[in-house]
Amino acid sequence: MNEGGKHPIGGVDYPRTLQEFDAWFPTEETCLDFIRRLRWPDGFQCPACGASGGWSTGRGLIRCSNCQRQTSTIAGTVFEGTRKPLRVWFQAMWFVTAEKLGGSALGLQRALGLGSYQTAWAWLHKLRRAMVCPGRDRLRGCVEVDETYVGGVEENVHGRQTETKAIVVIAAEEDGKGTGRIRLACIPDVSGESLLTFIRGMVEPGAEVHTDGWSGYAGLKAAGYEHQVTNLSRSEELAHELLPRVHRAASLLKRWLLGTHQGAVSREHLAYYLDEFTFRFNRRASRSRGLLFYLLLENAVRTAPVPYRGLVRSVRGRGRHN
Ligand SMILES: [Zn+2]
Repeated sequence: MNEGGKHPIGGVDYPRTLQEFDAWFPTEETCLDFIRRLRWPDGFQCPACGASGGWSTGRGLIRCSNCQRQTSTIAGTVFEGTRKPLRVWFQAMWFVTAEKLGGSALGLQRALGLGSYQTAWAWLHKLRRAMVCPGRDRLRGCVEVDETYVGGVEENVHGRQTETKAIVVIAAEEDGKGTGRIRLACIPDVSGESLLTFIRGMVEPGAEVHTDGWSGYAGLKAAGYEHQVTNLSRSEELAHELLPRVHRAASLLKRWLLGTHQGAVSREHLAYYLDEFTFRFNRRASRSRGLLFYLLLENAVRTAPVPYRGLVRSVRGRGRHN
């Protein structure tokens, strides 16, 4: 078992090209080894007794040298329980991080030659769950916050009332004239409680939060934030100028949902698409496909698995999963 040693190729921590990818992961064992090094960078530590040290007993199991208990390398990761080779999973992650706009299930199925559309769909959803780092930092500095509506065309809806559209709240860090990191979430309504819960979870206290004059943001000062309010009429054009970063993120999000998923995203799964969008947006400056692959894999080994049933349970009477 290779424990935290330098990888022989190029002295970097991840493959940079498809050629290197193939050289790094020719076998199941090389994939397992990579996962082990991500999970236990300082060497295997037994989850049962806490002792250090163990040896690989084949089929992805590690035996503790102290208590003899066997631990699965992929237990507790998104790969847990998979019947497909890890190598195919790694290829799926390479595919997903390569696509500028993100892969569709059909694209993934074709690229990997997967037998079923359902498998490709379930894999994409599992990987989306891994796109949000557990324990990630909150936004800081100056942060714009606003809501937008995602979903089908809805007539006779005014202002913030909506029946069938999903409400997505967006926070975007100001970075000079540009945008730093973003955070997105679906919220049930635009009440102060929903908006403040989102902001508390996504924005560091003490940050300056820039919003419009909606009453739902009235509690920001009391919650420990600097609050900069720009009152504007509900005109799209004005909103564009006054909260430009969230509006740019919102329009990119809508274009991305339309382009990659033909807008066919069910409300039940929208949160996962938001995670994928956030992952891509926040790493848009990274030209390195290998780094994205590495970051996704790193999250995947820390993300609890979801059984297929858990993924499809909330889909209501659809012939095809989105
Ligand atoms: Zn042990």
